[in-house]
Amino acid sequence: MRPPCRPLPADGRFLQAVGPTPLVPVRLDPEGPTIWCKLEFLNPSGSTKDRIARYMLEKAWRLGELCPGGDVVEASSGSTSIAMALASAQMGCRFTAVMPEGVTEERLIAIRAYGGEVELVPRAEGIRGAIARAASLAKERGGYAPRQFENPDNAEAHRVWTGQEILAQVPGGLVHGVVSGVGTGGTIVGLYQAFAEAGCPVTAFVARPIAGLGCDIECCSFSARVPGVVDGLSRLYREADMPGRVELDVSDDLAMRTARALIRRGFPVGPSSGLNYAAAVEAAKRLGPQAQVVTVFPDRMERYFSTELVQPRPTPAPASKAS
Ligand code: PMP
Repeated sequence: MRPPCRPLPADGRFLQAVGPTPLVPVRLDPEGPTIWCKLEFLNPSGSTKDRIARYMLEKAWRLGELCPGGDVVEASSGSTSIAMALASAQMGCRFTAVMPEGVTEERLIAIRAYGGEVELVPRAEGIRGAIARAASLAKERGGYAPRQFENPDNAEAHRVWTGQEILAQVPGGLVHGVVSGVGTGGTIVGLYQAFAEAGCPVTAFVARPIAGLGCDIECCSFSARVPGVVDGLSRLYREADMPGRVELDVSDDLAMRTARALIRRGFPVGPSSGLNYAAAVEAAKRLGPQAQVVTVFPDRMERYFSTELVQPRPTPAPASKAS
């Protein structure tokens, strides 16, 4: 039998600051479509992952799977770790992030600032290696492992929460297209389910960043220039029932250019928001002028200050002439 539900610590109430976030119409190209964009970077730790962190940890707490002073261990290449670090700090728990080497310094700094610990696995093992290590570490410590890549509560958080907010915000409560890149798949799966269950004639568009240049973290055809979006990793996504889903390839150059254009327009977003917006424009073209297309801006630009998002890529030096 499960232990009784316990109330959250009083200072954990800051977690209530997660959501609701604005949904705003954005049209970058005066000739192009208007896209409804959910400003998820406004959540407390700076990303949409605050939702799944709060949803999963509070549930584990209520069920007695997570104890006061307990351990939370999660594999993530970034945003989820930062969100889990914040939520764990709020709940008085110890947090350990398991990540592949090569993640940006900003992420490590943020996790440690919240009192979290970081364990790095070799770069070659990638996020798969991190997932395996997190599972064994959680077992060793008797800790709670949210397992975002397979835990249905990830998509559930977006189905019952983010998705319901959007339905109340979008004109007429009507969504024809929902667009997102896939990391765990929680966002696209949960939002698609919310809109389909509300009776919307909705199509899911999955944005795939395609590498123009080499890919060095996940070692697949996907571009490493759009952190957080990975290929074929998530059981949650693979097993989801999304009839008629459409996969849209977007070059990583277009994703980066679009993210920079959004920043100049006053939306302080990271690369995956550029990917999502660019794919949403294509989705809107396919669905026609009357369609209401929704996408998500998952995280903030500050997380990428050391990267090409805000710093020009070094141009290769011209070949020096033989003297
Ligand atoms: N953008 C960023 C910056 C992310 O960190 C993630 C998740 N890792 C995503 C997009 C994709 O979201 P989801 O995991 O819900 O598929």
